[in-house]
Amino acid sequence: MENCIFCKIVKKEIPAEIVYEDSKFSVFLDISPASKGHCLVVPKEHHKDIFDIPDSMLKEMSLMIKKTANTVKNALKADGINIIFNNGRSAGQLVFHIHAHVIPRYEKDNALVYTVNKPHVSNEQMQEIKLKILSSF
Ligand code: 5GP
Ligand code: ZN
Repeated sequence: MENCIFCKIVKKEIPAEIVYEDSKFSVFLDISPASKGHCLVVPKEHHKDIFDIPDSMLKEMSLMIKKTANTVKNALKADGINIIFNNGRSAGQLVFHIHAHVIPRYEKDNALVYTVNKPHVSNEQMQEIKLKILSSF
C-alpha cells in the first residue's frame, strides 16, 4: 500500500530496528516505546485492522504474537507483557496497517498503556449493553 509507513518498513524502504522477520511477518521496535523493549508485530501483507484482516492471517499473527511475547519476556527478564491492538482512530490507531503492540512490563514501571478515564456504567446500563452484544454474536 502506497504511503503506508509499515509497508515501507517491511520493504526496507525506511529503516527500523527489526528483531525478527520471516516471509509473513516483521517484528520491530516501536520508535516511541511505552516501555523498554516495546515491539510491534506486523504482517507483511497490508491489512488495515482487525476488521480487515483475513481469519487465516489473524490466526498466524496470534502465534507470532505469542512467540514474540515469550522471546521478549525471556530476553529482557520482563515480569509481564501487555498485548494491545488499536483498531480505528477512536481507539487510538495512528498507523492503519494492522499491528500488535507487545509491551514488556516491569514491576512498578508506571508505564501508561491503557486509558485511565473509565466511565461510570450503572447496573442497568450493563444489562442493556450485555443484551445488545450477546444478541449480536
Ligand atoms: P497505533 O497507535 O497505530 O496502534 O500505534 C502506532 C505505533 O507505531 C506507535 O506506538 C508509534 O510509536 C509507532 N510508530 C509510528 N511510526 C513509526 C516508525 O516510523 N517506526 C517505528 N519503529 N514505529 C513507528
Ligand atoms: Zn501497509
